[in-house]
Amino acid sequence: MRQPYAGSQWFVRRVAGAGSGAPYRCPGCQQQLGGIPHVVVWPAEGIGGLEDRRHWHLACWAHRETRPPRGSYR
Ligand SMILES: [Zn+2]
Repeated sequence: MRQPYAGSQWFVRRVAGAGSGAPYRCPGCQQQLGGIPHVVVWPAEGIGGLEDRRHWHLACWAHRETRPPRGSYR
C-alpha cells in the first residue's frame, strides 16, 4: 500500500507487532511501541533502506497531517 506524505510516496505495511521485541520509537509521539499492532513506513522512491523505516502507531500515522510528527520520520 502506498500513501502520500510530505510530498512523497511511502510504502505502508501493517504489522501485528507481537513477537518483535525491538524497542521502536514512533516518530509521531516519540513513545515506544510495545508489541502492539502498528504500521511500518518507508520511502517508496529513492534509496530507502532498512534504516529509513519508521514504526508508527496506527493513530499517529493516520493523524500525521493534523498532528505533525515530533521526531524524524525519515
Ligand atoms: Zn505514536
